[in-house]
Amino acid sequence: MKDITIIGAGPAGLFALFYAGMRGATAQIVDALPEVGGQLTALYPEKYIFDVAGYPKILAKDLVRSLREQAAQFNEPTHLGQQVTALREENGHFVLETERDRFPSRAIIIAAGIGAFSPRRLPHAAAQPWYGRGIYDTVTDPQDYRDQRVVIIGGGDSAFDWATQLAGIAAHVCVVHRSDRFRAHGATVALFQANVEAGRASLYTFHELADVIGHEQGERFSHIVLRDVKAKTTCEVEADVVLPMLGFVSDIGPIGEWGLTFEKDEIVVNQVMETGRTGIWAAGDVTTYPGKLKLIACGFGEAATAVNQAVHWIYPEKKVAPGHSSNMAIFGQKDD
Ligand SMILES: Cc1cc2nc3c(=O)[nH]c(=O)nc-3n(C[C@H](O)[C@H](O)[C@H](O)COP(=O)(O)OP(=O)(O)OC[C@H]3O[C@@H](n4cnc5c(N)ncnc54)[C@H](O)[C@@H]3O)c2cc1C
Repeated sequence: MKDITIIGAGPAGLFALFYAGMRGATAQIVDALPEVGGQLTALYPEKYIFDVAGYPKILAKDLVRSLREQAAQFNEPTHLGQQVTALREENGHFVLETERDRFPSRAIIIAAGIGAFSPRRLPHAAAQPWYGRGIYDTVTDPQDYRDQRVVIIGGGDSAFDWATQLAGIAAHVCVVHRSDRFRAHGATVALFQANVEAGRASLYTFHELADVIGHEQGERFSHIVLRDVKAKTTCEVEADVVLPMLGFVSDIGPIGEWGLTFEKDEIVVNQVMETGRTGIWAAGDVTTYPGKLKLIACGFGEAATAVNQAVHWIYPEKKVAPGHSSNMAIFGQKDD
């Protein structure tokens, strides 16, 4: 039985895990993804973040590493690869259930972000067998694509960010998009165009994937077929790797059935992050209230508020106000 179970190991959830330890509460975190970090790990590990207090700039993956280290001081468990599917109340405490486990807990903090999410897949039947064998929907290390012929499908920020980054690493980068209007930032598109002019990249507008042509032995593909959506013609493009950057689908899933008040997919909370159901608080992107900003910096503050409230609710003798960490015995700096 833990004092607090946190749903979601994004930045808000990881900071909540640390904060619970700092307040002397036992805690655990459960996340559907195989790694901690939420959107930072799954969607933009190699991008710099410029608006986290104290860091002029920091790679998303490095911020996650620091958050993980900070939380690890208290040796509380992180349960990964498990989506929370049900919430029960038993004998005055909560039990969160996943497909393979049960997590009893006195209080709950929901830090589920935009829900359990997954990259939007290419709809083409021809693409499905190649997922994991040349078609990848997340980029973990750009060096994996050194000297490869990379095709990126999409017209948003992720497509053009990765296209410009990979242009200096891959043998060739080709961006394919169904129209000539891009959601990506104009400056990034211009940077990519410069690569096209320099012969390091190519851009196919009004095209979509039509087929994938494999090597004879079936290990990897060698070409893809593109269809011109206007002219209805097709052409072949040499490719070792296809990176669909089509956004992602997210699903708040069963949390939507726990009797909480939602606006769209966000949980309505008050100024102390209470959800309206006793014993359950929320923090981070999953919350909404007047003036809400979906930013990492705000998620940290919300996590601290939620944990302090939960700790006081579980142990009324513990004050809501935590005191200063710079003067806490738990860190060995108490000066009295
Ligand atoms: C491309 C991009 C760039 C960004 N750049 C910035 C920036 O520069 N500055 C900034 O402040 N913000 C930025 N953001 C936004 C920032 O990433 C989010 O505000 C932040 O990730 C929210 O953190 P979170 O912990 O609330 O949720 P998330 O990061 O979304 O993490 C939520 C976690 O909960 C898990 N989860 C959900 N439901 C369940 C369930 N039922 N069971 C188990 N686990 C579950 C998910 O798997 C996920 O890991 C950016 C976002 C994107 C997409």
